Amino acid sequence: MVKALAAVAWERGAHLSVEELELDDPRDDEVLVKIAACGVCHTDVKARDGYGSVVFPIVLGHEGAGTVLEVGRAVRDLAPGDRVLLVSDYCGRCARCRAGRTAYCEEGPLRTFGAVRPDGSTRARIGGEAVRASFFGQSAFSTYALASERNALKVSDEIPLHLFAATTCGMVTGAGAVLQVLPVGPGRSLAVLGTGTVGLAAVMAARAVGASIIVAVDQRRTRLEHARALGATHVIDTGTHPDLAQSLREISNGGCDAILDTTGSGELQLAAVQGLAVLGQLGIAGGGGEPGVPLGTLMVGGRSVRGIIQGDSSGTLGLQRLLGLHRAGMFPFERLVRHYPFEEVNQAIEDSLSGDTVKPVLLFSGD
Ligand SMILES: [Zn+2]
Ligand SMILES: [Zn+2]
Repeated sequence: MVKALAAVAWERGAHLSVEELELDDPRDDEVLVKIAACGVCHTDVKARDGYGSVVFPIVLGHEGAGTVLEVGRAVRDLAPGDRVLLVSDYCGRCARCRAGRTAYCEEGPLRTFGAVRPDGSTRARIGGEAVRASFFGQSAFSTYALASERNALKVSDEIPLHLFAATTCGMVTGAGAVLQVLPVGPGRSLAVLGTGTVGLAAVMAARAVGASIIVAVDQRRTRLEHARALGATHVIDTGTHPDLAQSLREISNGGCDAILDTTGSGELQLAAVQGLAVLGQLGIAGGGGEPGVPLGTLMVGGRSVRGIIQGDSSGTLGLQRLLGLHRAGMFPFERLVRHYPFEEVNQAIEDSLSGDTVKPVLLFSGD
């Protein structure tokens, strides 16, 4: 048993409470990681507020970065002392995982929001009460976390964990949507709806692949300024330009080749469909609005709408690709990061919700 200090969500919507937790020793296929830093993602907030299959009490956090302390007997590719970045877990055995589509793993709901092991067991307790501590296979709002070698990417000593903890979920989601799914490339046009972490990552990736028109859409001026600094060629403030579809068509000379929605707003998704070029594609990465998409518009123009989870990443490949872009100087995500001591996790969440901080990263003392 390992004693950890963790931010526990005891009930829907409540502030997280930092307290001592008893974490299991690693099972045969698990690794124990001393967490150095963990990014805060909007999905943590959704889970805190009771989204999906979340059961309380639970430890959130799914962008952990740290050092392996101990490995189970069946672990082959990791050893104590390895520095790792943690991504979302998957089973590795189902048909989708075998096809490299781990973002759509059949056990995905259980291993992400369900936050239990596949056999239904929890990984932690407080005072004898079971606490779910496998959120996305990690629950890294904690000084120690259990993961597996599937969802841990070993990184070199040159990778500063306190920065790269920002990259493993939202950044991979936005970059992956552009690099692996949407028709974006040299001479193409992309619009991004919403300029949080996912949207700004998409902007950086679109610039990296040479898109000629990159439109950022938001109603927060500071975010639009970030977008411009990171490569957006145009911005649309929906507060002052309410006819989004028309604005998109004007900027892109008739319609965008690709649009990525990160907002989940049905109204914006509908405008996006109307702002697509013939054969254009709308990616949905921000959850469900009820857009009432005009299906005839899709058919006549050969347009399509595609849901995208985790940027379609396969295991840690999406993250590796992002690290490669960063090494080449083409993914300057550090500009978006703001650090908080772990104990200020609730403030970090509030600043993320208010828009004051694009990408909060929690730092654990001693590192
Ligand atoms: Zn699977
Ligand atoms: Zn996330």
